[in-house]
Amino acid sequence: MPRILITGGSGFIGSHLCEKFLSEGHEVICMDNLITGDVDNISHIKDSRFSFVHYDVTNYIYVKGDLDYILNFASPASPLDYMEFPIQTLKVGSLGTHKALGLAKEKVARFLLASTSEVYGDPVVHPQNEDYWGNVNPVGPRGVYDEAKRFAEALTMAYQRYHGVDTRIIRIFNTYGPRMRIKDGRAIPNFITQALRGEDVTVFGDGGQTRSFCYVTDLVDGIYRLLMSDYNSPVNIGNPHEMTVLEMAQEILALTNSKSKIVRMPLPEDDPKVRQPDISRAKRILGWEPHVALKDGLQNTISYFRMKLGIQE
Ligand code: UDP
Repeated sequence: MPRILITGGSGFIGSHLCEKFLSEGHEVICMDNLITGDVDNISHIKDSRFSFVHYDVTNYIYVKGDLDYILNFASPASPLDYMEFPIQTLKVGSLGTHKALGLAKEKVARFLLASTSEVYGDPVVHPQNEDYWGNVNPVGPRGVYDEAKRFAEALTMAYQRYHGVDTRIIRIFNTYGPRMRIKDGRAIPNFITQALRGEDVTVFGDGGQTRSFCYVTDLVDGIYRLLMSDYNSPVNIGNPHEMTVLEMAQEILALTNSKSKIVRMPLPEDDPKVRQPDISRAKRILGWEPHVALKDGLQNTISYFRMKLGIQE
């Protein structure tokens, strides 16, 4: 039975990965320090092949026995979290990735880095393909995440080139779905929570900035395919369906039948103006493209938030 370590396994994406790899017949070790992860995301998993280790991966990682795969997903992932945990964000992207790569080398395990569209910063190339080097402000508030992930990519390539570690790099674009936190701070969880509670829906700036949102099951499918492929350069995984933030707020208001008002709030510093993945490489190499329609993905996410908030339909 293949054995996999998933760092950040109690988080939003990590917990879906734990389920996916169990369903594919793996033994799964989930490791998380729970600063933004939540055991509620994994407490339903009753499987003897699953174990949880409460641990901060910026320290030396010890795992007994063999490992076939390591998924490096530990990191705060919301702009609100970068403000609250800037040093932890830098440390997990740099020191945490270093420890996980060291473990991959020791165990001769295949390693997959969860990188991000944030490596492209506020992009001047649109849509973004993997050959674009990005436009990042290293000293801005988002720099702690962007630069940590850029460093993590460089470190991953160095371990591949100099130590022969078998590595994969995925650049994840905006993802949404069940198990995002109510207080996550990102656009979709904020808008859904506000709409369901009848509170003002907070659109930052004029709402004309764009994002392209991918449903979590599509992302997980892309991660699985990339891990099982033999491709070791970065691959974008995201949904190219681009929309403005204002359009997303309106869509959520309509789907929740909410009477909430849209209010404008100041645009955060360095907020990217546009973002859309070019997924030609994922299509060509992995035969991957997203399938879940925005309405369906949002309905599932809204149902999850209703349950969490205790709000009936
Ligand atoms: N945003 C917003 N209202 C919110 C939260 C976010 O208008 O309550 C905007 C944010 O300024 C950005 C977009 O929505 O332009 C997506 O933000 P998010 O934090 O979800 O992810 P990002 O892509 O910026 O990392």
